[in-house]
Amino acid sequence: MTKSKAAAIGASNGRPPPLRLVIDGDALVANWQWLRTQGGNADCGAAVKANGYGLGASEVVARLAAAGCRDFFCATWAEAEAIGPLPDAVALSVLHGVRAEDMPAALASRVRPVLNTIEQVTRWRESGGGPCDVMVDTGINRLGLTPAQARSGLLDGLTIETLLSHLSCADEPGHPLNERQRDAFRTIRDAVPARRYSLANSAGILLGRDYGFDLLRPGIALYGGVPTPDDAASTALRLTVKMEAQVIQLRHVPAGEGVGYGAKWTAQADARIAVLNIGYADGMLRQLGPCLEAVVGGERRSLAGRISMDMITVDAGSADVAEGDWVELDYDLPKLAARSGLTQYELLTGLGRRFDRIWR
Ligand SMILES: *Cc1c(COP(=O)(O)O)cnc(C)c1O
Repeated sequence: MTKSKAAAIGASNGRPPPLRLVIDGDALVANWQWLRTQGGNADCGAAVKANGYGLGASEVVARLAAAGCRDFFCATWAEAEAIGPLPDAVALSVLHGVRAEDMPAALASRVRPVLNTIEQVTRWRESGGGPCDVMVDTGINRLGLTPAQARSGLLDGLTIETLLSHLSCADEPGHPLNERQRDAFRTIRDAVPARRYSLANSAGILLGRDYGFDLLRPGIALYGGVPTPDDAASTALRLTVKMEAQVIQLRHVPAGEGVGYGAKWTAQADARIAVLNIGYADGMLRQLGPCLEAVVGGERRSLAGRISMDMITVDAGSADVAEGDWVELDYDLPKLAARSGLTQYELLTGLGRRFDRIWR
């Protein structure tokens, strides 16, 4: 069991904080291996932006690099620096390109920018920057050169390692924009030389092998999210994060009394309430309250009352639990997303800094 390098707040002096994410490194690697098999001959990379979707980017890179992953993607240069030294033969690309103020860092490292705009291309070319990646927008209308810009000669002479595009509606397999973007990307591929071409995120991989091109870029599915209601994916992809918080008080609440802010929950009979050290400041948003279940002494129990900033209150019933015990909160991403209306992405990347992140 190793601790992630970015220590949680409160983890000083060897005292563990009272809330933790237990992260299953084998599940992460198994998810990556399964996604790779879905892409035919394409290589399989990994998106590790937002601190590895909240798990800890350095640790994710180390685990996946050891399993054979060679291509990683983060959003900004600050994220690239936070990952730290890269294992040999591993490449990292910064999806948001390179601003003027990023140039010194970019030129001093072997991390590649993904150039998105004419300004970025010009900046990189004039600096004599080396190999780069390029994003072409085939229909999401967010980041990237237009296809016309990409074919205009603007890119002539650049050493393009990977030419990318990003799908807008990959999580809706029947959406007509998917095929339009795939076909537009083929046209770009035939016009703009690059060593490799890459289109598919997690949901894009599940659209079929003709979306794979040379390099897959899964994110959410690596971490146990199921990007589309796909039976094979639901079966194959494993949750990576188990959430646990410590009981900091166990109290008896007499029948008729309320619990928490607004007294929104009333004990129907004399009740036992377990107060857990986790709240909305840790990403446990209030709207999750009615959707969450705690596993208390082996029993599934619901929350009692509102989620507070630093605490939740659980109706423990007669479950076997004591002050100081660790209680698991069921953080099944697809299930919780369906119940809460939040996305699986929000559920993962919103997890706060106070958690101890413990890798197994
Ligand atoms: C975030 C991101 C990915 C990964 O997306 P998932 O939906 O999490 O698989 C891939 N490519 C780009 C450009 C991204 O921004």
